[in-house]
Amino acid sequence: METINVGVLVYGGGMSGMACAAFATEAGAKTLIAEKQTEIGGPSNYPAGMFWGPQTYDKLRYWVLPGDVILQKAWMKNYLSAVQWMRDNGVPTAKRFDGIMTIGTTWQSFELPKSQWVKGYRYRVSNQNSHLHDLHQNRIRSSHANALFTNTSVLRLIQKGPGVPGSTVIGAITCQVTPNSPSTYYEVQAELVVLATGGLPRFSRYYKVCRTRRR
Ligand SMILES: Cc1cc2nc3c(=O)[nH]c(=O)nc-3n(C[C@H](O)[C@H](O)[C@H](O)COP(=O)(O)OP(=O)(O)OC[C@H]3O[C@@H](n4cnc5c(N)ncnc54)[C@H](O)[C@@H]3O)c2cc1C
Repeated sequence: METINVGVLVYGGGMSGMACAAFATEAGAKTLIAEKQTEIGGPSNYPAGMFWGPQTYDKLRYWVLPGDVILQKAWMKNYLSAVQWMRDNGVPTAKRFDGIMTIGTTWQSFELPKSQWVKGYRYRVSNQNSHLHDLHQNRIRSSHANALFTNTSVLRLIQKGPGVPGSTVIGAITCQVTPNSPSTYYEVQAELVVLATGGLPRFSRYYKVCRTRRR
């Protein structure tokens, strides 16, 4: 098994993982992203492209009372500047308005030829998150030291003290699947391991519906 040494291993190439890897790269870290799907982006390839973002902290608490207070405050404090960062970097964004989905990347819908309708569903909705992912990918690929592996699952985390609760994670065993070839296993050793695997893949039935609709 080949060993790869990096500064930052990001496990999951969805919205959070891509952003994290892009900023780690910019800060000078040698970064590797392992994404188990064929495409990066995860479920963020399917949404309407608007942030679920209330106008005030009180509204956020009203709607998401069980949410983590520290995270909610951090999110309210930072999300407008994050949107401004996207605008400054050419990602198309909508104007802010008062509603549950308040702002974000814009979306377009296309009418499909009849032969491509799925169960009478005649539109393909394409959100503009791809601009954001392209931006992150370009930053990650701007250095040859970095790598973005798709079709690659993290199978097992490696701890400094194997099996010791709370022991630091120092890497992972990953498996890259290539059609018609044997799978390739890597031991990735990293100074920092970021788990950005989201929560949705647990709801695989829902995810499958989203994929079908997109075609
Ligand atoms: C249909 C739909 C509509 C939505 N609409 C909106 C909306 O309009 N506004 C909004 O704010 N949010 C919306 N969301 C939610 C939003 O998409 C998610 O909150 C966001 O994508 C979460 O990002 P994430 O990076 O944390 O996780 P994810 O996007 O789930 O990314 C996790 C990634 O990790 C990968 N992964 C998992 N396990 C492994 C492993 N073992 N090894 C390697 N990779 C792994 C997954 O394949 C995935 O790509 C919507 C979601 C869906 C499905």
